[in-house]
Amino acid sequence: MILRKDWYLSVVMTNNFIQVLKSQLSTPKKVIIIPHKNPDGDALGSCLGLKHFLDQMGHLTNVISPNEYPKFLDWLPGQESILKYNQAEEACQELLFDADLIFTLDFNCLNRIKPMDVLINSCKGIKIMIDHHEKPDNYPDLMYSDPSLGSTCEMVYNIIEAIDVSKINDSIGTCIYTGIMTDSGSFRFQSTTSITHSIVSNLLDLDIDHAQIHRNIYDTYSFGRLQLLGKALSNLVKVEPLKATYITLSQNELNECEFKKGDTEGFVNYGLSLEGIQLSIIMIENTQENIVKMSFRSKGTFNVNEFARKHFNGGGHHNAAGGASFESLEATREKVHQTILKYKGQLS
Ligand code: 5GP
Ligand code: MN
Repeated sequence: MILRKDWYLSVVMTNNFIQVLKSQLSTPKKVIIIPHKNPDGDALGSCLGLKHFLDQMGHLTNVISPNEYPKFLDWLPGQESILKYNQAEEACQELLFDADLIFTLDFNCLNRIKPMDVLINSCKGIKIMIDHHEKPDNYPDLMYSDPSLGSTCEMVYNIIEAIDVSKINDSIGTCIYTGIMTDSGSFRFQSTTSITHSIVSNLLDLDIDHAQIHRNIYDTYSFGRLQLLGKALSNLVKVEPLKATYITLSQNELNECEFKKGDTEGFVNYGLSLEGIQLSIIMIENTQENIVKMSFRSKGTFNVNEFARKHFNGGGHHNAAGGASFESLEATREKVHQTILKYKGQLS
């Protein structure tokens, strides 16, 4: 079957998307599923949920993550099978070049899987994007992109439901529940709808332990991580008189608290918990990669996707985005401060 890009690019999941996908999956395929770098609960949950489903259908499926993921996700069913590109480049390249189908989940521009991005275009496999971020790039052959949805896990659920809902088991349910829960801020963000809750209701009818999932994600702090949160909170700056805050964490501060990947997850939300605040930013120095990694969160109409895209090499969603700065932490902090002041009209 010849795939022509312009036929199959769909903004939401159309019958056409499902038809083409079903026909691709009608014979056993070699499948690779890729989450974004530094994968979060939604990225890993959606990849593993899809993997369990495709394995049951008789496909040979591997998840390749660009790099490691945090400890609070290392219990997800099937996570032990995930290959990490930065640890096994050659083996991963072989699998990628050999794949019939390459799913890319929870990101929509290839620079989010660096350094794997350069490989993808030379792979013969059909590229299938499933993602809920705004402004998708046009690298895939087949696309299911819907920024109105709160998580990629919700999209994977929709796909499974459209293809064969009887295959949803506890492992799939646990993976999908995890991503919906983490990307919706435990079901409180605006993107949480009655449909989200009806999917979750279906998942709870399986034998999944939602209380344990919540504990695995949120109640597994190390002592160092809690100390780091203390440092982050004491570094919090209010950009008076605007409704904005930011936090910096230097590499030294991270080292003092024996920082591990994922330890700063969720810290940026504390800025938004202050009454009246509409924009919160965290800047985290990484001297090894020579970047300052940034997260942006907002409430209401302030669009951090645009803000991150325009000023800090990033993007994401309307109320949650990420980015990076290649200047020093102090220069980045100063740029953040000055940039916020330019949005006085929106943040007063
Ligand atoms: P976080 O701040 O939790 O890392 O990411 C918030 C949202 O922005 C997530 O949906 C994430 O996928 C997206 N995001 C994070 N970092 C980047 C980035 O560097 N570029 C783009 N385009 N999106 C990002
Ligand atoms: Mn997501």
